[in-house]
Amino acid sequence: MKLKISLLLLFSLIVFSCSQTDDLPAQQPNLQSGVVLTFDDDFVDEWFDVNTILEPYDWKATFFVTRFNQLSANKIQKLKDLKSYGHEIGGHGLNHLNAPTFISANGTNEYLNQEIFPMISLMNNNDLAATSFAYPYGARNSSTDNLMLDQFQIIRGTTYGNQIPALQNCFYNDDRVVFGLGIDKNYSHFSIPYFLSLLEYAKNNHKIVIFYAHKPVTTFQNNYETEYQTLIEICNYVKSNNMKFYKISELYNLQNSF
Ligand SMILES: [Zn+2]
Repeated sequence: MKLKISLLLLFSLIVFSCSQTDDLPAQQPNLQSGVVLTFDDDFVDEWFDVNTILEPYDWKATFFVTRFNQLSANKIQKLKDLKSYGHEIGGHGLNHLNAPTFISANGTNEYLNQEIFPMISLMNNNDLAATSFAYPYGARNSSTDNLMLDQFQIIRGTTYGNQIPALQNCFYNDDRVVFGLGIDKNYSHFSIPYFLSLLEYAKNNHKIVIFYAHKPVTTFQNNYETEYQTLIEICNYVKSNNMKFYKISELYNLQNSF
């Protein structure tokens, strides 16, 4: 009798769990939680140096480069080396223009011809073709988004503040426009425990956090500087919790795999 009841219970459990699955629409597979670490501007030497510090964490990053026409051959080679190591090199405008401001003064064609097309050609010619773009100053609107989404797979704006994780805008949300939270030490929301709490939220909710930085330094002295310690704590958390380092274009590939 006991066995019958147990079998019945087991049977109903199986039926119940099957029908529950069948009733749901096609589900997206759960994302592997992780981080997208991004860096902006032209701090190539500092990016190259910090790579050595963060290699033990098997880290991957995305470097958004501006003023490519002013980079030395040595810096271009370092970018190639970073790419060979497994990082992504994205575009950050040829002249670091504020997109909405420049477009309202000069028009869309001038923007593309001065800021985007020559950058794309230069990067292509140096075997560093970019599939992603980050806005200088995080300056954007929906028309610049539409313009850039014609040229790139995925684009990144910026976000700030220390809202509770559920209200943060820095998580990947199935969209080709994403927002990175600044982790330079000068931001008023700067707090390593807060950054780690976002990673913990991502880990518990199958999400991906997007951070953005500029110039890695040992000790912060100026704006746009990110201390090694911040990067080490983030990378250590990601590695020790078996989370994934995503390159930004991998987010676009995630969308296409559903
Ligand atoms: Zn910038």
